[in-house]
Amino acid sequence: MTAPFPVGPQLVSRIDEVLSRIDSAATQAGRDGAGITVLLATKTRTPQQIAAVIEVLRERGRTIAVGENRAQEMAKHEDPLLAGNGVPRHFIGRLQTNKARDVVAFAELIHSVDRDDIAEALERRAEMAGLHREVLVQVNTSGEESKGGYDPTPEAVIPVVQRLRGSQVLRPVGLMTIGANTSDDAAVRASLRSLRELRDEVRERLGLDDFEQLSMGMSGDLEIAVEEGATIVRVGSAIFGPRPA
Ligand SMILES: *Cc1c(COP(=O)(O)O)cnc(C)c1O
Repeated sequence: MTAPFPVGPQLVSRIDEVLSRIDSAATQAGRDGAGITVLLATKTRTPQQIAAVIEVLRERGRTIAVGENRAQEMAKHEDPLLAGNGVPRHFIGRLQTNKARDVVAFAELIHSVDRDDIAEALERRAEMAGLHREVLVQVNTSGEESKGGYDPTPEAVIPVVQRLRGSQVLRPVGLMTIGANTSDDAAVRASLRSLRELRDEVRERLGLDDFEQLSMGMSGDLEIAVEEGATIVRVGSAIFGPRPA
């Protein structure tokens, strides 16, 4: 198959670099790197750029997903270069209730249920559209005020998971966090580890075998995330290059 777009050597080497970072961290932790989903955080990238990366990741045999963090960027995935490519679409950004309908239509997994009114809006819209969607509960593990999410305690997270479990259309499958924004690796590790511990506790207390996803780790902290049990890493700039300012 010939690519309808150029896959430059620089892009290929950035992708391989990310995959080798994932694989070494996985090996370190006694895990299989190929089992970790690489979610491309596509932000403002063009359909051409996104399609090129998808092609390389597919050649490498990776489990992939694309993730948008802004509702207004979702339409670009209807571009002929991307539409119908079979790559699961996720939503990873801060949600607004007035965008719930569009997000439900777009994403099969929504990472960012960070407050009760969002859970309600997604449920209502999924019911109206007749769609079943998986969701993650976003947890604020860093204590940074700019970040959304429930407090990192079972008392805060269990009620929302239970509420979602009661839904006919939404299925909670795990937790998501944005790690501490610091160069202090120990602080990053503590925040990411707390997500895993919280998932384990929720899973055990509620007896949920299928509550297993841990969406954590970005370009700067993906090794730590993989070592701490990430099942989905969300990567943007390490693959696409620095974002235009
Ligand atoms: C942009 C984004 C990422 C990826 O960030 P990079 O540092 O570019 O890898 C991950 N998660 C969320 C929620 C994002 O918005």
